[in-house]
Amino acid sequence: MSKGIISKDEDYSQWFNELVIKADMAEYSPVRGCMIIKPYGYSIWEKMQSVLDKMFKDTGHSNAYFPLLIPKSFFSKEASHVEGFAKECAVVTHYRLKNDEDGQIVVDSEAKLEEELIIRPTSETIIWNTYKGWIQSYRDLPILVNQWANVMRWEMRTRMFLRTSEFLWQEGHTAHATAEEAVAETEQMLDVYADFAENWLALPVVRGRKTANERFAGALDTYCIEALMQDGKALQAGTSHFLGQNFAKAFDVKFANKEGKLDYVWATSWGVSTRLIGALIMAHSDDAGLVLPPKLAPIQVVIVPIYKHDEELENISSYVKTLTNDLKAKDISVKFDNRDTQRPGFKFAEYELKGVPVRVAIGSRDMQNGTVELARRDTKTKETVQQEGLANTIEALLEEIQSNIYSKAYNFREENTTEVDTYEEFKRLLDEKPGFLSAHWDGTPETEQRIKEETKATIRCIPLNNAQEEGKCILTGKPSTQRVLFARAY
Ligand code: AMP
Repeated sequence: MSKGIISKDEDYSQWFNELVIKADMAEYSPVRGCMIIKPYGYSIWEKMQSVLDKMFKDTGHSNAYFPLLIPKSFFSKEASHVEGFAKECAVVTHYRLKNDEDGQIVVDSEAKLEEELIIRPTSETIIWNTYKGWIQSYRDLPILVNQWANVMRWEMRTRMFLRTSEFLWQEGHTAHATAEEAVAETEQMLDVYADFAENWLALPVVRGRKTANERFAGALDTYCIEALMQDGKALQAGTSHFLGQNFAKAFDVKFANKEGKLDYVWATSWGVSTRLIGALIMAHSDDAGLVLPPKLAPIQVVIVPIYKHDEELENISSYVKTLTNDLKAKDISVKFDNRDTQRPGFKFAEYELKGVPVRVAIGSRDMQNGTVELARRDTKTKETVQQEGLANTIEALLEEIQSNIYSKAYNFREENTTEVDTYEEFKRLLDEKPGFLSAHWDGTPETEQRIKEETKATIRCIPLNNAQEEGKCILTGKPSTQRVLFARAY
């Protein structure tokens, strides 16, 4: 194949980078850590956005937009928040350039801002500063707002989609009268994310809570969904935070409750980002290219005509017109690739690389026999099927592919989730069979930190459905009541 990529067994990391570029998803930008999302990659993001946006609206949320720039002073109001984000902030200090004597463009030192501005790494501070004006009494609550935006975190080790300095995301920011209501919201949005990951991305996830070490800066509790990539590394795919009254206290947001007493408002925030595109690629794709779950694939079906003469093409085209209409009526996106500048073999390879779930090839003999060749991307198998009822056949096949991709990822995760009871076994498995390691931990940040330093594995989460079980911490031997999930992670 002309656009061949390295095998993922040979070099997983390079495989991913090559795949992103060769499948036309994105390219590097002149600024380190930033990326250009190309139309094919962006169309997947648009699909994700439209599904998630509907899920948010179905759960009562509305969209709003807050500014990109945040006064620096806002960050000093919530101590743990600033501590967490300070190292990653891009700061705007000037508002003008000028030509110097040599004709070079330089920053105009006279145009220095009185107060520096932070490019948002997340919007809690500006939003809670705003909510102060929106909330007076319990009648103003809850506020259920989501924002689609870009944010900037000056990441030191970047990788396309998974960890970039600028990324696209949505951030929900809600305000509530009671702690119970805010916790319920936090859990509800975790469920929305898990539902989206499993039923749309075909990505099985573990729902859990982060330990204090891994919590969002400023949160009382961080819930997350964690997924396993094909190299056995974990990826945090989404987070939902219970922020308690921290931001209300920092920005003095009080409300009069039903009894007329003043109290601080309770908060949540939750987000997923373009990282999900990275998750999609890493979880399902293979050495021939992307494998996209049909529900998020920009093109679900591609039709390639195989012909020698124009008459043959005409004959095939008139059939394809009917087929295309039938598929569109079922809301299936379809592309008829009748370019005469490329050979069918080239086209096959291209759509394989781009992860189009179903390929229909039609030649003259097929037209005589009333058949087509139907190929599926996930298993790379093909068969000859009847033209009659083809739209129904394809519809069923897309569903089967969606569920097959999920099962494959699910089985992979199950095969690579191991209970371990000793530190030796833990270290050995991390090198020999990476994946989720379910192990006892004594519950202290010190132990967690030591394990991280010694093995590079972190506690991905304390799963929500954890069984209580007596055990001993793998590092210290101290008593523990439940297992937690460890892994090396992206
Ligand atoms: P956080 O606000 O830190 O909880 O992040 C919200 C979500 O954004 C996380 O679940 C990640 O999936 C994603 N995320 C965080 N940092 C990055 C990054 N540098 N690039 C892409 N996605 C990110």
